[in-house]
Amino acid sequence: MSDRIFNFSPGPANLPEAVLNQAQADLLNIDGSGIGILEHSHRGPVVNRVFDEAEADCRALANISDDYALLFLQGGASTQFFMVPANFLAADATADYLCTGSWSKKAIAEAKHYGAAHVACSSQDRDFTYVPGPGQTRYSSDPAYVHFTSNNTIYGTEWSQEPTPPRDAFLVCDASSDLFSRPIDVSRYGVVYAGAQKNFGPAGVTLVIIRRDLLERPVRELPSMLQYGLHAKNGSRYNTPPVFGVYLIGRVARWMLEAGGLTVMAQRAEARARVVYDAIDASSFFRGTADPDSRSRMNVTFRAPSEELEKRFIAEAEKNGMSGLKGHRSVGGMRASLYNAFPQRGCEVLAEFMRDFESRNG
Ligand SMILES: *Cc1c(COP(=O)(O)O)cnc(C)c1O
Repeated sequence: MSDRIFNFSPGPANLPEAVLNQAQADLLNIDGSGIGILEHSHRGPVVNRVFDEAEADCRALANISDDYALLFLQGGASTQFFMVPANFLAADATADYLCTGSWSKKAIAEAKHYGAAHVACSSQDRDFTYVPGPGQTRYSSDPAYVHFTSNNTIYGTEWSQEPTPPRDAFLVCDASSDLFSRPIDVSRYGVVYAGAQKNFGPAGVTLVIIRRDLLERPVRELPSMLQYGLHAKNGSRYNTPPVFGVYLIGRVARWMLEAGGLTVMAQRAEARARVVYDAIDASSFFRGTADPDSRSRMNVTFRAPSEELEKRFIAEAEKNGMSGLKGHRSVGGMRASLYNAFPQRGCEVLAEFMRDFESRNG
């Protein structure tokens, strides 16, 4: 415990220490089987139970009904950028995309390999510092689906509630950096996907929550590994799955349930973010980059008066036990990523350090 530092990394990110300790034991011998979790067959009873429990706990956490399948897939959220249009965007059809940052843009670029991608709104005019409102959104006449990015990890903005797609279109969400950080009404979505490595697991596994009727609606012939229906039919074990990642998702989901579930995760996220935003707002030195009403609870992005001072801030923070505060290489500045397992205490230490740094350099 004492030799761990505050890790503000945007992902892979913090995991709960209790989970890491349990994993350490299970690496050698899980459930008294005499075999470690990395060594079990993915077709045996131990791994079957790991998958069943991970799925059940994720369902319990977000109140996900049996109308939805839960898939544990590989290839990251980046694979979902093309898997979604490959399945649902016919060559002569249009899908609408809400463009709020770099990840949205990447999703749009992949959709264009399959059909038309209509950008229904974009916040690029002001460097993605805000989330557009319904009045700024122009849907196409008959989109197959509407895709949005619920939290913009790089720019530090977040949708406070999901957009409402036009009738007949289903909603698709890249929730890679905020899934399970607050309650979610899954029934409003057709597909929600998220890489686990920000809020609920390690890198290497992507959770896809998909409405079951969509499993049978691919618009074209696809290779096996790109068919959602095939993965669903095989319980995410059509081929060798990322067993350890699913195991960790299960452990983190259990940890969240025991802590009180997504309502508690949301309260903690609010409290963490408030400490850092309050420090920014009280400062005449640091400046938040996102519009206040679009601010992310997960990634707090801010600048100092010069790049020189930013460099010094990041280096001194590192020396004081705070790692990962450098902003994304495409935007610069600082970014404090505060996902589910990040301790409140780390935010207080950062805020204190910001005040101290300002008094010495302001
Ligand atoms: C991190 C991130 C991704 C990329 O995820 P990979 O698992 O690396 O493919 C996509 N979208 C968002 C919003 C992210 O934060």
